Amino acid sequence: MSSYDLIVIGAGPGGYVCAIRAAQLGLKTAVVEGRDALGGTCLNVGCIPSKALLHSSHMYHEAAHNFPKMGLKGEPPTIDWNVMQGYKAETVETNTKGIEFLFKKNKIDWIKGWASIEGAGKVKVGDEVHEAKNIVIATGSEVSPLKGVTVDNDKGVIVDSTGALVLAKIPESMVVIGAGVIGLELGSVYARLGTKVTVVEYLDAITPGMDAEIQKQLQRTLTKQGLEFVMGAAVQSASESKGRASVAYKLRKDDSDHRLDADVVLLATGRRPYLDGLGLDKVGVELTERGQIKVDDHWATSAKGIYAIGDAVPGPMLAHKAEDEGMAVAEVIAGRAGHVNYGVIPSVIYTAPEVAAVGMTEAEAKNSGRKIKVGKFPFMGNARAKAMFAGDGFVKMIADAETDRVLGCHVIGPNAGDMIHEVCVAMEFGASAEDIAMTCHAHPTTSEAVREAALALGDGAIHV
Ligand code: FAD
Repeated sequence: MSSYDLIVIGAGPGGYVCAIRAAQLGLKTAVVEGRDALGGTCLNVGCIPSKALLHSSHMYHEAAHNFPKMGLKGEPPTIDWNVMQGYKAETVETNTKGIEFLFKKNKIDWIKGWASIEGAGKVKVGDEVHEAKNIVIATGSEVSPLKGVTVDNDKGVIVDSTGALVLAKIPESMVVIGAGVIGLELGSVYARLGTKVTVVEYLDAITPGMDAEIQKQLQRTLTKQGLEFVMGAAVQSASESKGRASVAYKLRKDDSDHRLDADVVLLATGRRPYLDGLGLDKVGVELTERGQIKVDDHWATSAKGIYAIGDAVPGPMLAHKAEDEGMAVAEVIAGRAGHVNYGVIPSVIYTAPEVAAVGMTEAEAKNSGRKIKVGKFPFMGNARAKAMFAGDGFVKMIADAETDRVLGCHVIGPNAGDMIHEVCVAMEFGASAEDIAMTCHAHPTTSEAVREAALALGDGAIHV
């Protein structure tokens, strides 16, 4: 038996970042992880492998569609799916090994296996019980089931996101159930590689929670790229027969029954906290009605000495939100003031063009009772975007009409995921739109569009 200041359960972005910060602050720290590799969902079957496939499929698409327009001639590349899978696996491995290195560097013990909490300060892994003054639960999430749909990733016909990352071959057709971020990203990958992709969505708009104008523009753009959408459709079941799948759905507007056949069905309707086998009821850790661990402002659960972070607790299920909570809870445990500003957590969809958002949507800002103003700038007015054939899209900035304080920003366009951070920093500092408008931005960059949207909130944008 070994004893620690802190045992973290789960080595995803929440858990491993928490452990590193705790070790940096002088706490003797161990992490329990049941997978064969560190990095959690994000590195192994989430953010990183999906972005590797998004990158390679985007390059393929660029080569086929945009290279000839720039005078780059020759045969468009063909796809070697095995090599693409190998590139993705290697990308994952270099990152997960990188975390192993960081654990060694920071003298963090990796206790291999699945943990349960036996009582205050006691974590059991296999037959061994380890002691800790503090425990952080960072066990992440799993795919939420959908009634009538049974996922079998090994068969590769009705799959979830994990199965969709390792299909044996590129399917000719795919039905994606759910027009959320994961479904649209993976749907885009396959559509670019030649799959006929149909997205079936229960609601009337894609990407719930996003600004309504962005939702419309993204759906239009993805439709132009070949994705088909069936909106307002309640999936009843998915079945598999002789290696093909069939999805039955009802249209909500008239209750009519429909069916779609495809080589692969991807279930992408959401995720839920993964808390199996932890024994939380035994130690008095309370859950919300949505099955998340209840925490206070300092990530403390209802059981003394036990904290929880990341996808296992309420809030957006995002790697960077988990990381921020990981750092903050380590600081709290070390006696410092850990803090996360939940009003300034960016979210990004890595389609082409990318979508990025921070702060309030226009509807949220209006509903907050403030007087607001909205500044927009199209990428058609941005020289750099046009040179990249990426003039489709816009930046939309929302500010308080009385104070000029930035309340939110929504971008659909090239590099949106990187560009959003200047607005995050501005919002952290309580900046006004004028502060962004008065800041010199390098030319020619896509970030100039952010400044132009801020200028549009004052005396007017220049390049429209
Ligand atoms: P996780 O990363 O889920 O890690 C939890 C770890 O705990 C796992 O490794 C698990 O094995 C381990 N564990 C669980 N129970 C136990 C136990 N009892 N004992 C020991 N170990 C245990 N987010 C983004 O911000 N950007 C993206 O681009 C993005 N893309 C995504 C793409 C896909 C396909 C998916 C599925 C998710 C994506 N996400 C993305 C979401 C992101 O992966 C999660 O928000 C993030 O991983 C949550 O981190 P976490 O530390 O809370 O948990």
